[in-house]
Amino acid sequence: MTTPDDHTLLRRAIALAAEAHASGNPPFGSLLTGPDGTVLAEEQNTTLTDQDITAHPELKLARWAARELDPATAAGTTMYTSCQPCGMCEAVIQRAGLRRVVFALSNEQLLDIRPGSGQPPVPQDGPALLDEVRAVVAEYYR
Ligand SMILES: [Zn+2]
Repeated sequence: MTTPDDHTLLRRAIALAAEAHASGNPPFGSLLTGPDGTVLAEEQNTTLTDQDITAHPELKLARWAARELDPATAAGTTMYTSCQPCGMCEAVIQRAGLRRVVFALSNEQLLDIRPGSGQPPVPQDGPALLDEVRAVVAEYYR
């Protein structure tokens, strides 16, 4: 359930999406607020100008939070984003320990606007060579 305060911050994320588009990138923008609601950081999609397929604003903010905030502060943050985070960003947001994500456009709604924008899953084969890999991994976690 979103609130009027959420909508104010979502409008800023949408403005960042428009700025990304004006800068020659896909139209996605996000920001991160602290536990008291102040804006800590803002990002835009820069996948084209950076030639980096991972330069999603949500991913950049989650990496920033994990690097710059202590875990307790990160756990009090909210990400406001113009579009629902993709699977890549969702995993990093979870790993960064953020509290909440508020989005405007859902991934399903994005697919209605841009059909075929998803990628098929890549087949994975494994596990294999368990004894060999276990020795390396167990050494680290010992
Ligand atoms: Zn993403």
